Amino acid sequence: KKTFDVQSFREQFPILKRQVKGYPLIYLDNAATSQKPQVVIDALVNYYSGFNANIHRGIHSLAEEATAAFEATRDTVKDFINASSREEIIFTRGTTEGINLVAATWGRANVKAGDEIIITNMEHHSNIVPWQLLCEEKGAVLKVIPVDDNGELIWEEFLKLISPKTKLISVVHVSNALGTVNPVKNIIAEARKVGALVMVDGAQSTVHLDIDVQDMDCDFFAFSSHKLYGPTGIGVLYGKRDLLLAMPVYQGGGEMIKEVKYTGTTFNDLPYKYEAGTPNIADTIALKTAIDFVNETGKDVMRRHEDELLDYATEQLQQIPGLKIIGQAKEKVSLVSFIIDKLHPQDIAILLDNRGIAVRTGHHCAQPLIDRFCIPGTTRASFAAYNTTEEIDELVKGLHRAIKLLA
Ligand code: PMP
Repeated sequence: KKTFDVQSFREQFPILKRQVKGYPLIYLDNAATSQKPQVVIDALVNYYSGFNANIHRGIHSLAEEATAAFEATRDTVKDFINASSREEIIFTRGTTEGINLVAATWGRANVKAGDEIIITNMEHHSNIVPWQLLCEEKGAVLKVIPVDDNGELIWEEFLKLISPKTKLISVVHVSNALGTVNPVKNIIAEARKVGALVMVDGAQSTVHLDIDVQDMDCDFFAFSSHKLYGPTGIGVLYGKRDLLLAMPVYQGGGEMIKEVKYTGTTFNDLPYKYEAGTPNIADTIALKTAIDFVNETGKDVMRRHEDELLDYATEQLQQIPGLKIIGQAKEKVSLVSFIIDKLHPQDIAILLDNRGIAVRTGHHCAQPLIDRFCIPGTTRASFAAYNTTEEIDELVKGLHRAIKLLA
């Protein structure tokens, strides 16, 4: 059984040794992006200094080494999310591109005037705008599952929205603004009754929860490497094989073709059909390192530590006069979004930054959700496994200072 020692875990992240404005960095903006361990940084350097080459086409040794490392990531991702085959793993730039890919290919081919797409009131803009654009193009209708005061989906309202007109439900697995874990399996069960597909936005869930796409039975699942201790610029779209086979291609170019003639082009097999052009080789290779790192550390022990941080932060923050936590779902990941009476989130963040504490403020790219709570935005502290209760104590002190200065 794995154990977790936060101090030795922290040691692996060089950035955590730096100072900001004369204070030790306290990084509480992990839902935006996580910091990178030395092994991931080394993987990038080793690729560029050791075997940089374009992949798939070359016969020379460097090209073979680069191709093997790149494709090894696909196998690692397949196991990490328990896909049934490596053909179901499409590399993208991130969650945003994964959702746009599905909207542009499956969406354009299958959504007609009068059809309905359901999202929730807690979506990130990247899971709103692609569907809005598709609906405008096709004359389809976008429906939104409302959220209650605790930040949970209102199940009865969802049941009223879903019907045989529903073609797709695209839902965030874990809200980046509230931390809510959504009941995706129950949503998928309802979708099956009306023959709708389900896409899950896994941007926030993949680092915190065990992901098993076969058990979940989602049709599409998208996530980003950079929230998972991996590099930016690389992400994954999982899709069920039959759907990916049937869908039209996304971008055209090299790699995605079998044969190109002026009379017509035939397309490559899965997964290459959706991967036009030279991919992000270095970051893809380092994503494998990041996943190996998470697996070796143990997602379960990391989660336990993160849950302790969430409980501690919730308990400590609630004692601050005038502070209100936005999002108190029964099932939550380790982030706390809050407002403080008479204080603007922006001012809070500036004062915290003066003490080296990094938090996020504003609408968190989920503007309709923030509007629903009738607030200008929140301050969000989001925790990774390298955060400590001492850092939360510093956050609490910083908030007391802000109240003294500003309220
Ligand atoms: N969905 C959610 C819930 C997110 O938190 C994010 C990133 N903030 C995204 C989608 C978009 O991810 P990316 O910017 O990496 O494409």
